[in-house]
Amino acid sequence: MGSPDIAVVGAGIVGLAAAHELRRRGASVTVYESGQPGHGQSAGSSRIFRHAHADPRMIDYAVESRKAWRRWEDEFGAPLIAADGALALGPVAPSMLAALAEREGIEASVADARILEERLPVLAAYEGPGLVDRSGGSIDTIRVISSLTSAVGDGLVGDVVLSVCPLAGGGAEVRTANGCRSHDAAVVAAGRGTQALARGAGLSLPVETRAHVRVSFAPRALIGSLATLQDTSGAFGEAGVYAAAYPDRSAYGVGLAEDVPTAEDGAMLAPDGLAAHVERVIAYVKRALPGLDPDPVGYVHCWATRLPWGDDGVAVWTAGDIAFLAGHNLFKHAPALGRELAATVLDGEVPALLRPEARFGQA
Ligand SMILES: Cc1cc2nc3c(=O)[nH]c(=O)nc-3n(C[C@H](O)[C@H](O)[C@H](O)COP(=O)(O)OP(=O)(O)OC[C@H]3O[C@@H](n4cnc5c(N)ncnc54)[C@H](O)[C@@H]3O)c2cc1C
Repeated sequence: MGSPDIAVVGAGIVGLAAAHELRRRGASVTVYESGQPGHGQSAGSSRIFRHAHADPRMIDYAVESRKAWRRWEDEFGAPLIAADGALALGPVAPSMLAALAEREGIEASVADARILEERLPVLAAYEGPGLVDRSGGSIDTIRVISSLTSAVGDGLVGDVVLSVCPLAGGGAEVRTANGCRSHDAAVVAAGRGTQALARGAGLSLPVETRAHVRVSFAPRALIGSLATLQDTSGAFGEAGVYAAAYPDRSAYGVGLAEDVPTAEDGAMLAPDGLAAHVERVIAYVKRALPGLDPDPVGYVHCWATRLPWGDDGVAVWTAGDIAFLAGHNLFKHAPALGRELAATVLDGEVPALLRPEARFGQA
């Protein structure tokens, strides 16, 4: 292609990252978004950047992603990942630490009582295994979404995409509420909307969609550090909790690793499912995070789209010149995923790690 004309469906973090990389590589890009950029699964004020992953390939991938976040920080002239670090508590910490120690570029060590007090002073006394990843931390989601949106400029089109189909002679037809356009290729990173658009292009993606809630709490006092948290210890009555701080440390968003089951059309199977998760999160905060006021100050309700091989699973499917990405826990990997989605449509091949058969991010 000379100066290819590429469509991107979805202005969440992944679509915006892909658009940014496509533009960097000289493409002309149209990003179709039905709502506000970042209002879907990318909503809220923070996400965790961590290197710790069950799939060792994903640890290496996170190292590359971390470098790419630094490049974005230089380009956008602002910090995007806080320096407070990422904590992981639970029985997997020692083996995970050994895996992290084998890689260059990850500053990780045992999290003893002194480190826990220094990095996460709102945490109750904890004596089990833990690790601190000093090169992880809370991602400033709003800043990065707005920086990438500004970079896309008038390439962003507010419209609902009804279908994205491969054209017989090559290229992609994007049919929207307000029209129909042909492009040389398309990237679909539409979050919850990806599965339906893929089905319309003849693909069946094994995505499980569920509902999720994250609850935010304010610290009781001004605080100098709020590292992110992954707690699988069970020491505080829950064996799967995560948390990340707002960029100004004015609140800490806490959620369960579990989602609430829904029917295929999105209907809640248990009407009080999300409310029950909120109550469990508040109870956890009272036990584990006494430095937070347990009255919630904010909520993020959204969809979680998981692949069957693990919570961190991600893959790309293609139909002609269209690439469809699906997975979960993608925020931290967005710069790397954006680069690979751009490579998929410009170079015509899905990178090996992201092919579905690679089961990347396997638990
Ligand atoms: C509460 C919560 C906490 C999380 N914590 C972490 C974390 O700590 N670390 C981490 O790495 N990840 C985390 N994740 C996961 C991460 O946020 C998501 O994987 C990521 O944001 C997905 O981005 P995306 O761009 O693929 O999708 P989205 O952000 O959902 O973007 C898709 C966009 O496509 C648009 N769209 C959909 N269909 C159409 C259509 N037909 N036409 C036009 N536009 C359309 C939507 O409006 C949306 O804006 C978390 C997710 C949640 C919900």
